[in-house]
Amino acid sequence: MTARLLEGKFFAAKIREEAGKRAAQLKEKYGVTPGLAVIIVGENPASQVYVRNKHKACTELGFYSEGVEMPETTTREELLSEINRLNNDPKIHGILVQLPLPKALQPYESEVLEAINPLKDVDGFHPVNVGRLVTGQKALVPCTPHGCIRMLELAEIPMEGAKAVVIGRSNIVGKPMLHLLLGKNATVTICHSRTKNLAEVVKEADIVVAAVGKPKFVTADMIKPGATVIDVGINRIAPKKLVGDVDFDAVKEVAGAITPVPGGVGLLTIAMLMQNTVDAAELQVK
Ligand code: NDP
Repeated sequence: MTARLLEGKFFAAKIREEAGKRAAQLKEKYGVTPGLAVIIVGENPASQVYVRNKHKACTELGFYSEGVEMPETTTREELLSEINRLNNDPKIHGILVQLPLPKALQPYESEVLEAINPLKDVDGFHPVNVGRLVTGQKALVPCTPHGCIRMLELAEIPMEGAKAVVIGRSNIVGKPMLHLLLGKNATVTICHSRTKNLAEVVKEADIVVAAVGKPKFVTADMIKPGATVIDVGINRIAPKKLVGDVDFDAVKEVAGAITPVPGGVGLLTIAMLMQNTVDAAELQVK
């Protein structure tokens, strides 16, 4: 058996299309154009690529986009003051601080993320949004797990009553994924580095979400035949070779549906950022 391939390109296009339609409605009803500001501090080349891609996605959907480039030597006060300026700018509905911050600012990371107005927190990292997600309220949700849940919906993978296992408990992926699946009435288990008998736990799952950061961590013998396998991992194993957390070639013979890496979940993240920017704009106009 070969699994159905859940291609990121297809779902990302759908998510962008939805975001574009909702943005057009906002414009028509309220005269509002969604605006996203991305702050980048320092010269991290990978971050610069992400920021360019985010800007391009905004332009394609007709969003207002502002890139704020700050030097490596930026102080805590300067960064907080820039966030404050954007919090008060009515053109901006979403604010994102590109991580990682330069070393000197890393001790202030939580303070910086908490300085963003929760209504503009399109990364969904602010404790107010985390709390809203956990308590089942309307929240801005981190883009990667938000993209995964939207993909599961669009692919019509049944979640209600399904057994889901999330491997990884980070604040960015694993924990929000747990709450999103719970919100869809799945029965969710979360595994981490101290989980005992992990393979047996994963084998029970109808839906497996791997967010570990270890190449080929999930092997075919761990997968229940027909299960849906979402691979969030991005691992660079050679200068030009990316692999996920799932042993794709073997697992695709057992799973019912699977995301590839590259070409899977990674493509959903920026599309979901566009969607989150529209969500944020809607929350603000209301
Ligand atoms: P973290 O390193 O923050 O978390 C990894 C998690 O995996 C931790 O909870 C850790 O457990 C768990 N883990 C590590 N080793 C094992 C093990 N041997 N057995 C079981 N669990 C283990 O990573 P992130 O959540 O930030 O990212 C996970 C992966 O997803 C990475 O490859 C990252 O590059 C990718 N990623 C992809 C994105 C995309 O856009 N597609 C966006 C964000 C991340 P413990 O808590 O006990 O240490």
